[in-house]
Amino acid sequence: MNNLKIMAINSGSSSLKFKLYEMPAEKVCVSGIIERIGSPEAQFSINNKTKTLAIKNHEEAIRCLLTELLKQNFIDELNEIVGVGHRVAHGGEFFDRSTIVNKKEFARIEQLGELAPLHNPVNAMGIKVFSEVLPQSIQVAVFDTAFHQTIPSYNYLYPLPYSLYQKYKIRKYGFHGTSHQYVAKRAAEFLKLDFQEANFITCHLGNGASICCIKDGKSFDTSMGFTPTDGVMMGTRSGGIDPMIFPFLEKNLLLDVNKIEHIINKESGLLGISGISNDFRDVQNSARNGNELSKIAIKMFVRKISEYILSYTSELKRIDGIVFTAGIGEHSAYVRQQICEQLTCLNVKLNKQKNNDNDKLISSKNSKVKVLVIPTDEELVIAKDTYKLVHNLVNV
Ligand code: ADP
Repeated sequence: MNNLKIMAINSGSSSLKFKLYEMPAEKVCVSGIIERIGSPEAQFSINNKTKTLAIKNHEEAIRCLLTELLKQNFIDELNEIVGVGHRVAHGGEFFDRSTIVNKKEFARIEQLGELAPLHNPVNAMGIKVFSEVLPQSIQVAVFDTAFHQTIPSYNYLYPLPYSLYQKYKIRKYGFHGTSHQYVAKRAAEFLKLDFQEANFITCHLGNGASICCIKDGKSFDTSMGFTPTDGVMMGTRSGGIDPMIFPFLEKNLLLDVNKIEHIINKESGLLGISGISNDFRDVQNSARNGNELSKIAIKMFVRKISEYILSYTSELKRIDGIVFTAGIGEHSAYVRQQICEQLTCLNVKLNKQKNNDNDKLISSKNSKVKVLVIPTDEELVIAKDTYKLVHNLVNV
């Protein structure tokens, strides 16, 4: 079978991550990131080589990227890129899987900007610019929320007036779906289990963090909610807290809603408690040097995650594995060990050496529940889904 060139794109408000694949071989041809888009000193990194240049907007960034791919011979002509897969934060209740984006789907993605104002508009812009700059390519959207569309209503509804759900679609959506699904599938492969029958609790612990309860290969519950702020404590996000704190801040401290949003999304979490950093390594270093607030921040982070894991176990008759992924989950043996210590009532036991080595299976032989470390690869999922949707449509 001929390999096709597929681009995976993750666009943020001032950044654009890219990975060009040959599919179905899953070969990465080139990858990189353009940061500080909109600045005269934007950073363009391609295969780890960085240059500084002025980039006005996303359109210019994409044009610049394509010119560079041609110049460095990663492609001979633009037509070679037959599909572009875009990470899209919010698919609402419309999208339960990845989809080709035509006019109708594009309008829906834009409309969902109401629910994800920081993400969907830039994701939509990425789709629009690629369809203009590479008009022969097929655009595909891969949604962070799609995997969680199987969550039953008693888990996705909030105990608010039901009319708020009916009229405004206020409910749990969940995020990081691509990552939870990917690592759970890889874990099932590794353990030689049929994914459709597998039960996992997956912990995506990066700057943003969420836990997912996967029952029979489907998302059954997850910690993020209506927005990615809910759930566990994160780098700068509070996670779930008493909702009456918000009106208190408004009424008693006279803070406006923008300031309150800023506090809970950007000034809280590990950064808020430690006062040191949102980056786990920095907080850990300062804790090692005796900083009490950093120690408390880590304790809180660990506690919240183990609370979610324990609450999800009540839903599962059998747990095939607890899976750790993303920056902290993949690299911090310390956090994994701290979390698993909170799970002793489940008879979870780690193999110290394997945990320290970031091995794939880190639980000890006598552990009742298997514990795994599986690196996430959201770009690969984007490329795979895009290939699946476009390969029958292109003539090569
Ligand atoms: P994002 O959510 O931005 O994609 P990542 O998945 O890259 O984030 O995770 C970033 C987090 O991972 C940071 O808090 C960083 O400190 C943490 N991290 C990366 N490597 C290590 C490590 N070796 N030990 C502990 N934490 C780590």
